[in-house]
Amino acid sequence: SSGSGKSTFVNTLCESPVILRKDHLDAEKAAAPKTINITPTTIEMDEDGLKLSLTVVDTPGFGDNINNEPAFADILEYIEHQYEEILSQESRIKRNPRFQDNRVHVLLYFVQPTGHGLREMDIEFMRTLGPRVNVIPVISKADSMTPQELNAFKKKVMEDISHYKIPIYDFPYDEDEDDEETIEENTELRGLLPFSVIGSEDEIVLNGRRVRCRQYPWGVVEVDNSKHCDFSKLRYMLLSSHLHDVKDITHEVLYESWRTEKLSKEGHHDDDEEEVVID
Ligand code: GDP
Repeated sequence: SSGSGKSTFVNTLCESPVILRKDHLDAEKAAAPKTINITPTTIEMDEDGLKLSLTVVDTPGFGDNINNEPAFADILEYIEHQYEEILSQESRIKRNPRFQDNRVHVLLYFVQPTGHGLREMDIEFMRTLGPRVNVIPVISKADSMTPQELNAFKKKVMEDISHYKIPIYDFPYDEDEDDEETIEENTELRGLLPFSVIGSEDEIVLNGRRVRCRQYPWGVVEVDNSKHCDFSKLRYMLLSSHLHDVKDITHEVLYESWRTEKLSKEGHHDDDEEEVVID
């Protein structure tokens, strides 16, 4: 929903003002019904010497109306539209060498720090979108909770996710196939879900170090300090350690299941799919 800290988060993640912050103080605009506006922005980044092209698709206006179902449908349609494009490209005899794959590899779902578990809208949204995209739940404005409250809230959110069988990206691994290091790393990241984040575009010098933080009369919370929130772990996972995994799952699992469903709905079936009965 508006005001949950999405724009600040994206700007913190990209270390530049990619998304202009909206004017929340305009009462007239705030009360008007919102249409969601899906806006992709591509940023060229340099991650430890590696060039990375990151496209962020913001969905301002989602969750702001009394009935948010049309907004769900718009986001789902956007994601499936990218799959349609791939399917039509795959079926061409001559492929377009300049074709751009715009599939969404991760959807960060901002859970508001209410302390009360998931709302019905959160459940419905993640259940609808989870089969189509890697959903990673994130608790924004984590500085509004004490560490105990945050831990209890995380636990509650995960209990809801399991109770309502919400399909999220939970750092899957294979005990038999994956190496020990991967299993350990994925278990640790899974244990952090939902990631707590703090966003800020302000920097100060603290003990001789430049830190991104939010300053309050009672202290300073640091965006990149893993004792304060999971921002740095989430950033590293998204842009480095799990970049290929989320892409692979998108292609091999999510896109494949969409493709199979779509083609079977249209009445296509493979010739070698015929049942063979052997006595
Ligand atoms: P958006 O509408 O979801 O894009 O939200 P914005 O990024 O515009 O943020 C809404 C308000 O929340 C702004 O006043 C931000 O300064 C504030 N905000 C953003 N991130 C945080 C955070 O991590 N902690 C706190 N306490 N406030 C935040």
